[in-house]
Amino acid sequence: MKITRRDFMRFSLIASLAAGLPILGREVAEAGDSPKCGLDVNSMKKDVLDRTQAIIYADDATADQAAAIDMFNRNGMPVVIAAITGRIGTPGYLTWEQLRRYQLRGNEIANHTDNHEHLLDLDQEGKVNAITTARGDFKMKGITGVSAFVPPYGEYDDSIIDILEKIDYTSNRQASIDDENNPFNNVVDFDPFNIKAISIKSDIEPSDINNWLRWAAADKVVAPFIIHKALPKLDKKLDEYQTTLSVIQSFITCAASLRRSGLLDIVVVRDALAKVNYCRNLAA
Ligand SMILES: [Zn+2]
Repeated sequence: MKITRRDFMRFSLIASLAAGLPILGREVAEAGDSPKCGLDVNSMKKDVLDRTQAIIYADDATADQAAAIDMFNRNGMPVVIAAITGRIGTPGYLTWEQLRRYQLRGNEIANHTDNHEHLLDLDQEGKVNAITTARGDFKMKGITGVSAFVPPYGEYDDSIIDILEKIDYTSNRQASIDDENNPFNNVVDFDPFNIKAISIKSDIEPSDINNWLRWAAADKVVAPFIIHKALPKLDKKLDEYQTTLSVIQSFITCAASLRRSGLLDIVVVRDALAKVNYCRNLAA
């Protein structure tokens, strides 16, 4: 499922070259003039973001993710925590108190259903229940403003998107890359209910992360990454949905460097949607 290394090298080279060229420096300076989107209204590229919007999702809100979320937050990088509400506060998962604290700190909480069932195996009523029970749980536990959905196993269909729209949710995310040569979301065909994302699995190394981030930064896209279990070291007893804190640290180091260069921001879904809409309105 990894992007081919040839693609990595190609985009990595372009990004590195671009980062060193004075022309890009001018673009960044202009971007600074307009606080919201940084677009030159006279330019032909009205539908391109001024800088890449990277999003970090922590799927399942497991207890081991706390260390990774703290690492991101210490570096001014918010995380979207996709919580399975029926498991919050049970062994192996974050607590409600932790979720509330993370939300106060600027992280976004997303609905990952109440029980992590395969939604496509459920009838219509079951689908509605899985989503709305979780929504009720958030309200009851003092987590407000949840509007992002993450379907378990990345499985969803049009009926699920209809349910989300009816309850005023504003986004839905895929589970992994469908198109290895085009894993990110550009403004022109950005679909908030089919957001593409890259899973950081056990075979992903720091060099892969660096190449992905540089590729994303060069293309000025919405670039979501998913972390699953985040452990001090890989656990052979678990499946591939795990990574290490040192890989997370590499992600942070590379993202911080691209942020300093004015090429990339780390944001939550809500902010990415606002920015894409702003750019689209300018382009209209
Ligand atoms: Zn999950």
